[in-house]
Amino acid sequence: MSQQPFLPFSKPTIDEDTIAAVGEVLRSGWITSGPKVQAFESQLSAYFGGRPVCTFNSGTCTMEIALRIAGIGAGDEVITTPISWVATANVIIETGATPVFADIDPLTHNIDLDKLESAITPRTKAIIPVYLAGLPIDMDRLYAIANKHQLRVVEDAAQALGSSWNGKRIGAFGDFVSFSFQANKNITSSEGGCLVLNNAEEVRLAEKYRLQGVTRNGFDGIDVDVLGGKFNMTDVAAAIGLGQFAHIDAITAHRRHLAQHYFACFGSDFTEKYGAELPIPDFQNSNWHLFQLILPERTDGKPARATFMEQMQAMGVGVGYHYPPIHLFTMYRALGFKEGMFPVAERIGRLIVTLPMFNAMKISDVERAVDAVKCALK
Ligand SMILES: *Cc1c(COP(=O)(O)O)cnc(C)c1O
Repeated sequence: MSQQPFLPFSKPTIDEDTIAAVGEVLRSGWITSGPKVQAFESQLSAYFGGRPVCTFNSGTCTMEIALRIAGIGAGDEVITTPISWVATANVIIETGATPVFADIDPLTHNIDLDKLESAITPRTKAIIPVYLAGLPIDMDRLYAIANKHQLRVVEDAAQALGSSWNGKRIGAFGDFVSFSFQANKNITSSEGGCLVLNNAEEVRLAEKYRLQGVTRNGFDGIDVDVLGGKFNMTDVAAAIGLGQFAHIDAITAHRRHLAQHYFACFGSDFTEKYGAELPIPDFQNSNWHLFQLILPERTDGKPARATFMEQMQAMGVGVGYHYPPIHLFTMYRALGFKEGMFPVAERIGRLIVTLPMFNAMKISDVERAVDAVKCALK
């Protein structure tokens, strides 16, 4: 339809300084965890108000390690949302614990705290809330529930670096807070993640789980007293992360600006005219990791999302879907989950689409995406 290059829904931008810094690491003779990882951890710690931070090679293992530090295992229940990347629930199973889902709020698309509270049993040990698209939940209420029932919280803030709650940065308060630096996140280390922890004892455990359960003593002392894995971040990855993290405030501001322009272009009568729901217009708390619409159901029997995605693709605009409901995947059905259990998540999971939103995106790209959406939904 147009001569313009395809507009993806997400893509990383790595600047020349960062590429040069990676080159330096590669020439330095030390490419695995070293001074760059230490520098990245200390910058992240400063950003989160001085709380201790450990880096890892994914956001997924970051959450798994937090659950292990909290002593979660067989016989324990962990409550989370069905609308997230499947990693959020997989890590619960990985520890031997039982995943329990609570349905989502139809407007925020995040876990519904009333339903979360009703799902608590004597076996519940932890909660994993997810801040979909970077929009936090009611953090005061979350921690009131956690304190009342003595539950640990592992915040899956994979999408929420740069987000805040009433002026407090996500990660600067709370229990465990896990972030991801996967390629499509607001900042990337190609792959990677970090965990904000509470104290030195938790850091000691995180470091053990990160590297085979090893503790070292003096020049040649070594022991293993727990089962750890191979989860450390490399200096190559940390150099990318440092180069990206230097721009975090500008990145968040730019994404909020793009989101505001989306709203301006859609206009206040968009839902009335086209039937699709816009996200919550929050420009204080959310970092706008994703800009998502809920499509209207179709009357012609065709699948709403697949049809929309095909139309957008034909107009040169990339669209994603984040996420299909976890409980309906085959492995989760085998655990006893089925259709009808979380009706809001099932509707949102079927109709949610992600429009283009990335750091190098321009205002004119927003306009192109909105024109294509209106054309597809006409
Ligand atoms: C990206 C993401 C993860 C997983 O992070 P990885 O670094 O890819 O392991 C988990 N949860 C959510 C909500 C995510 O967006």
